[in-house]
Amino acid sequence: MAATLAFVLGSAVGSFLNVVVDRIPAGGSLFRPRSRCGACGTPLKTIDLVPIVSYLLIRGRCRYCRTSIPSRLLAVEAITAALFLAAFLRFGPSPAFLAAALCGAVLIVIAASALETGRPLTHALVIGAVAAASLAPFWTEIGIPRGFSGHDGLAWSAASSVAGGAAVLITMAAAYATRLLPPRAEGVAVAAIGGLFAGFPGALVAAGAIALAAGFVYASGVRGKAYFADRRAVLVAATSSLAALPFLLIGTSAWP
Ligand SMILES: [Zn+2]
Repeated sequence: MAATLAFVLGSAVGSFLNVVVDRIPAGGSLFRPRSRCGACGTPLKTIDLVPIVSYLLIRGRCRYCRTSIPSRLLAVEAITAALFLAAFLRFGPSPAFLAAALCGAVLIVIAASALETGRPLTHALVIGAVAAASLAPFWTEIGIPRGFSGHDGLAWSAASSVAGGAAVLITMAAAYATRLLPPRAEGVAVAAIGGLFAGFPGALVAAGAIALAAGFVYASGVRGKAYFADRRAVLVAATSSLAALPFLLIGTSAWP
């Protein structure tokens, strides 16, 4: 029962994250006006706004004008719901659950915005997330197992974050140096957030995702002036920080 509640809470938070992605870049209020269809402008009723369920019931199309609704809405709701459920099953009702669920939600909203627009939501949010990520070493105090090379405790947890952040940054730097990716400061920040949260060796998964995605970007060919303006560095960072998401829950002590 409590696990179901965690899932429902996660889907509601995911629904809110979608509003954040839609409205913050346009400078709109998060709470007014009421959500409307992006195509026909019809104000949505409560029945249209039930997370996950509404999207499935109307099969991804507006009930009024039949225009298809971006699948990002469903993806963000479903991923956030799954994250909250997994965090609850892992930690139960505890501060650890809140820390993992909220930090995961931040990664999801930054990644969703970056994947859609090529930019993380706002610089303020990214700076806030870096600040929150730098608190990850203290998670040992609320029961999230974080360690490093078989050692536990605060200092080792910090070492895990530093090593995780470094693994990600070195991979990004290598991708920039070899011109696999165009250098973008937001890309570095977003990737580092995932690394600091996930710690070591979880961040290696994120680093691997960066290398892989950078290879695809390179293979797809970016040339000339457009290279430095290219947004793909941010997209790659966003995907890889999502790859680090499960390691928020596993902690880092579970590793040898
Ligand atoms: Zn419509």
